[in-house]
Amino acid sequence: MMSNRLSPLSFLLCAALLCGCAASSAPSAPEENTASRTLFAMDTVMSLQLSGPEAEEALEVAVAELNRLDRLLDRNEPESDVSRLNAHAGDGAAVEVDPSTAELLALCLTCCESSGGAFDCTIAPVMDAWGFGGAAESYRVPSQDVLSSLLPLVDSAGLEVDLQENTARLAQAGMEVDLGGIAKGYAADRLLALLAEYGVGSALLDLGTSTIAAVGERAGGGPWRIALRDPASAEQQLGVLALSGQALSTSGSYERQFVENGVTYHHILDPQTGYPAETGVLSVTVVGERAAVADAWSTALFVLGPDKAQELWRTSDDFEYILCRSDGLVQVTEGLEDSFTFWGDEYGYTCEILRR
Ligand code: ADP
Ligand code: MG
Repeated sequence: MMSNRLSPLSFLLCAALLCGCAASSAPSAPEENTASRTLFAMDTVMSLQLSGPEAEEALEVAVAELNRLDRLLDRNEPESDVSRLNAHAGDGAAVEVDPSTAELLALCLTCCESSGGAFDCTIAPVMDAWGFGGAAESYRVPSQDVLSSLLPLVDSAGLEVDLQENTARLAQAGMEVDLGGIAKGYAADRLLALLAEYGVGSALLDLGTSTIAAVGERAGGGPWRIALRDPASAEQQLGVLALSGQALSTSGSYERQFVENGVTYHHILDPQTGYPAETGVLSVTVVGERAAVADAWSTALFVLGPDKAQELWRTSDDFEYILCRSDGLVQVTEGLEDSFTFWGDEYGYTCEILRR
């Protein structure tokens, strides 16, 4: 149901969620336990809350898995799989990696293909030219010459993954992989699989606000309710999304950006041009069953822009989205019509439902 009215109950739930305390600590059944943890991993603050018969054990396993994936996938960690792969670019060596890394790299290739190259994990050399790989002080506008020399290195056709041998190889010297656009989603999928083994029937995995996965319902009943922020202000919300058994991923230009000579530059880059994607999108939230796919699509749809996003959605069946355009139109695909409550009219936005 689309409603522009903020019910007191949804406001309270949303406010509680924003404060990181949405789950009731009261067990929903006598044999259910609850456990929660806030931790720092993958360069962001994450919070996990879950209930099930072995909640504590499940939480420990989940945290260990997050830390393990962080060590494998962090390209600023010299011994990580990704760093070793990047270090061997162009030397012909097939680099042995963990099966999870191989699986994720293979998924990157699929996402690159299905997005027509809008999502490309070999974007790293260009990310670095903008300084987006490092601290805010290093952000800068690279010269066109620098970008032109780096763009040939952005090419997933030069990434080879062998899922039998668990090896990967980058064809050209100077190529580098950056998994920032998909790693948190992949981590969420891994955690979902582990939690299922522990019989966890209710959980909210918040892997840094932009990637959230929901298992079952909240303790006490009802779907998890996730507020989607107004891209123009972290204090305001576009609306609230009811989520159960699904994941969402948001890409927004507000996450990392800088201003130079009056122009704002952000961290979601168009692999064709090497420049921040300027397609009239302020943010896009993708909802799907697989968090990694939602994560890759959120980045890709941002790069592709509203029209191509809509075209791709019409021919796909594994994701829905909410896209906020810079002219104030919020486009919601019909699969989310009943689960999204729009509040954005308070802030000058209008809402449109996209139909297949
Ligand atoms: P967030 O980092 O806020 O979760 P995204 O999921 O959109 O947002 O990921 C942005 C990150 O993805 C960037 O920081 C960078 O690491 C990487 N990235 C940027 N542009 C692309 C692209 N076109 N394809 C793949 N990855 C990208
Ligand atoms: Mg993403």
